[in-house]
Amino acid sequence: MRYHNITKDDMLNGDGLRVVLWVAGCDHCCKGCQNPLTWDPDGGLPFDEAAKQEIFDQLDKSYISGITFSGGDPLHNANRLGVRALIGEIKEKYPDKTIWVYTGSKWEDIWHYPIMKNVDVVVDGEYVQELRDTKLLWKGSSNQRVIDVQATLKQTDPLKPVLHCNNYE
Ligand code: SF4
Repeated sequence: MRYHNITKDDMLNGDGLRVVLWVAGCDHCCKGCQNPLTWDPDGGLPFDEAAKQEIFDQLDKSYISGITFSGGDPLHNANRLGVRALIGEIKEKYPDKTIWVYTGSKWEDIWHYPIMKNVDVVVDGEYVQELRDTKLLWKGSSNQRVIDVQATLKQTDPLKPVLHCNNYE
């Protein structure tokens, strides 16, 4: 896995104050994407122990609510295993912190990934320029959904996502 940035005290990509890992690699090619630099899976820097420690140092702070994975696409083939391993480690070390994942894929195509057992919230779907709305919280276009993953997986039909209470249409 490679990454471009680790941002701190972020208030825009999930609940509370968060640390955000911006990974490299995305093949959704959304028109109007704000981060086309992150599309190349070979771009950025290798995610190494120092980068992991930088994240842990943030999660050690009581006022940090959790971590958000964005990019790029954390569920791109180049990232999925690395992100899954890191999420597993974080859940074990910081069970009270929340884990959010942004992806250009739709929930219906990813709900069965093993990674989901440790994810609290997924913001799904490609960015659609025609549906852009700057008033939306945590998402760029109105087709995207802020999904409560654990509530959804408990449903008899996990294909029907339970939306986070702050998902605004
Ligand atoms: S999924 Fe996100 S990073 Fe990928 S092209 Fe679309 S907006 Fe850009």
